[in-house]
Amino acid sequence: MASILIKDGFIATMDTQQTVLQQGDILIQNDRIQEIAKKINPSVPPDQILDAKHKVVLPGFVNTHAHLQQYFRGLYELIGEFYDVNLPLEGYRQPQDMEYLGLASCAELIQGGCTTSVILYTYPDGFARAAEQAGIRVLLAADIEEVNLEKLREGIYEYMPQKGEAGFQRAVDLHRDWHGKANGRITTLMMPKAADLTLPETYRKCKTFADQHGLLISSHVSQSGQELRQVQKLYKKTPPQHLFDLGILDNNFLAAHCAYATDQDLALIHKTGTRILQCRFLYSPFVRWMEMGIPISLGTDDYFHDMLMMFRELIAGQADRAAHQLDSAEQFFAANRITRRPSAYEMLELATRKGAEAIHREADIGSLEVGKKADLILIDTMNPFITPTMDPLTSVVLYGSSNDIKTVIVDGQILKKDGEFTTLDLNSTLTTAQTYVEEILDRFFKEHPHQKEIWTKKTMYLHGFNQ
Ligand SMILES: [Zn+2]
Repeated sequence: MASILIKDGFIATMDTQQTVLQQGDILIQNDRIQEIAKKINPSVPPDQILDAKHKVVLPGFVNTHAHLQQYFRGLYELIGEFYDVNLPLEGYRQPQDMEYLGLASCAELIQGGCTTSVILYTYPDGFARAAEQAGIRVLLAADIEEVNLEKLREGIYEYMPQKGEAGFQRAVDLHRDWHGKANGRITTLMMPKAADLTLPETYRKCKTFADQHGLLISSHVSQSGQELRQVQKLYKKTPPQHLFDLGILDNNFLAAHCAYATDQDLALIHKTGTRILQCRFLYSPFVRWMEMGIPISLGTDDYFHDMLMMFRELIAGQADRAAHQLDSAEQFFAANRITRRPSAYEMLELATRKGAEAIHREADIGSLEVGKKADLILIDTMNPFITPTMDPLTSVVLYGSSNDIKTVIVDGQILKKDGEFTTLDLNSTLTTAQTYVEEILDRFFKEHPHQKEIWTKKTMYLHGFNQ
């Protein structure tokens, strides 16, 4: 790390004054931004100069909710049952797989311009090593659930407190081993998975540990009808009411989804300062939540970590929803009206400054300001989808692709330069991950021949798996 001068970029600082320099320079010294101005003439020649002409310079995206499940592309989409396939498959990834699979996830996050990500995963230790090598900034959680996943496939909740205890221990070990490591790039949080998958006692233990160590807590909240029914059955409450009564809801709590939150739930969320992490529930009325004053941020969740793609999906979801006939499951959403379509700039704010605010990191990241961490991305606009344009920011959001994110810098270190990864060998990272994924699916299909049958029927052109 040393000094980097970024020259002649279209700089959207995403600060609270919405400062934009149509052509400007940024000087980075070690891990921080030293100067931002129309023209910088450093007294000492910088170690590197990056030409940002025809490029939009933004703070790196803050992805506040992401799992590491994208390895099973081409399977999830075809079988597609969360409780039937996704959750059981998690059990087939072994801790030792994760360092190599994790590198592929890091590559994906860099590709998508996510310089900071909240990563939730059962065996995060191997992933922490991958993140350390790749150079990304992460808040890492060992997620804790304590049900028998095989039985859950049949809709039966069998609680296994010893599984919760083991998960809690993994979270404690993760904090001991990784919190504050890699120049502070790697920190940890607590993640009791969801109110139907995690018992009250475990939520309380997580809260105590988080308060003792100044950590955030995150959980899935009001994500599915199945969760709602189980929480209602056990506690005669909605998930937000249940968590409020347990003392979990506050401004250090990150609630993913809240898709089924009632008006009463939203009042509790608002009153306590709870953050909502808006993921790919396209019809959730997050603009209305923003207008209520609830802190909102974005998360790519469990599929692929492409923030630019997500911007468009969410904008379209807000715009199109009213035009569709709602089926009975979606009638629940209907109570929470979508008020308007978000602007492209608002989407960028959610993915940068507001993401940083949601996780209480706004002093360091989320906007380009002197003294803040040098976490930023350069997006090429010399692309017939984007140029000509009178507003590069709107055009990048509406018509850009993650392939246009040519340069990614985290903590003053260049992780991708002119489209080339610098901390990873992309080819070997992806081919190694492919080999591991095939082995994991082989194990899964051996014990779930029915799933293999469904998948094979839908992929006749592959002539079966691993043949
Ligand atoms: Zn999730």
